[in-house]
Amino acid sequence: MRPTLIAGNWKMNGSRAGVDSLVSGILRQGPFGCQVLLVPSFVFLEQVERLIVGTAVALGAQDIDPRPEGAVTGGISVSMVREFGCGYALVGHSERRTLFAETDDQVAEKFKACIHAGMTPILCVGETRAEREADSTDEVIAGQLAAVLAKVGVSAFATAVIAYEPVWAIGTGLSATPVQAQAVHEAIRAMLAAEDQDIAAQTQLLYGGSVNRQNAEALLAQPDIDGALIGGASLKADEFGAICRMAEGAG
Ligand code: PEP
Repeated sequence: MRPTLIAGNWKMNGSRAGVDSLVSGILRQGPFGCQVLLVPSFVFLEQVERLIVGTAVALGAQDIDPRPEGAVTGGISVSMVREFGCGYALVGHSERRTLFAETDDQVAEKFKACIHAGMTPILCVGETRAEREADSTDEVIAGQLAAVLAKVGVSAFATAVIAYEPVWAIGTGLSATPVQAQAVHEAIRAMLAAEDQDIAAQTQLLYGGSVNRQNAEALLAQPDIDGALIGGASLKADEFGAICRMAEGAG
């Protein structure tokens, strides 16, 4: 059985004081019977690492640069985030793809760098509203996935997570319905199964896009949804904690 993972992507939000109260507010509600992952801005990694020490809460980075070191001003490598306790990194979040023009190939390089360092990449995939309306959701996602499969092969997905995040649902308050989300998750699992059935059966697939305490339970009840990647609602300790508690019974 696949464990349920609830991940909070804080994006470019937070302050020293805010991070202290958010993490302590979340920890007060635990321990949780599901995997919990916090993904703060790079500058707060050390602070969060200290706050979660001794708990089962995991730490992740919002992005990484695939180059190992050197003349990359502003870049942050996998080995750097590893030093601060990160076991996970988001790769290919739609905000990186749109605001920073990241290509499928660059995303695949980041994924590969994580795998080589023993870190779990969370590969974000998803279609825009126009792509959904053009009925090309599966095709778009197959392309995003194919770029990574071509770079690292399906075996790398034994230690990876995929987050299906429809672009039209991120930060809009308009989540995919459980039926819509399940259909795409099932399609992603079938894409992996075409390469390797055992790996497809074990890869955790998260849903992301306006998840909140009202819609989380029904989404997490879907057979191919193994957790959630949460933006806005992860910035409120009570809301995030409530979703983590709902995840305890899921899966
Ligand atoms: C996200 O940024 O990954 C996300 C899903 O955001 P939100 O939950 O705010 O839609």
